[in-house]
Amino acid sequence: MNFLLEGSLKGLNKWLRFLGCQTEVYEEKITKEVIFQNQYKIFLITSLETAKIMRKMGIKFLLLPRENLKAQLFMVINKFNITPKLTLNICSLCGEKLVPVKKEDFKDQIPPKVYQSINEYNYCVKCQKLYWEGDHIKRLKDRFKSLLSLGVQLEV
Ligand SMILES: [Zn+2]
Repeated sequence: MNFLLEGSLKGLNKWLRFLGCQTEVYEEKITKEVIFQNQYKIFLITSLETAKIMRKMGIKFLLLPRENLKAQLFMVINKFNITPKLTLNICSLCGEKLVPVKKEDFKDQIPPKVYQSINEYNYCVKCQKLYWEGDHIKRLKDRFKSLLSLGVQLEV
């Protein structure tokens, strides 16, 4: 599944990437040309007008409520049967798949305390950013639980 999100859905985009979904955000107005060029993707939008055009064109889309991240996330997870588990295998900045790396190769980029206690590291080749499961991941998981506290089965 490859999602294309409207520019206003950046918050949702971040969470979908944490869940391991392939996504991209389209910043400009979504025109018929854009829809046509991306017709094999699933559009996530908040514009009723765009939804009408997509329905006519036979494009897969999901119309979401504006400004309500909790509802947006809940609807996407349910509609597309996404496992509500933070896989954290996609770069949240650019959407690239992360590559597992050896910490020895990145020693100069890792704070000594982290280096001692954590063994698993992932790397985004595109952003040249190193990821590891630190305290911020615990906070992320807590935030995810509270976002989905509407009764979805959790596997975090
Ligand atoms: Zn990246």
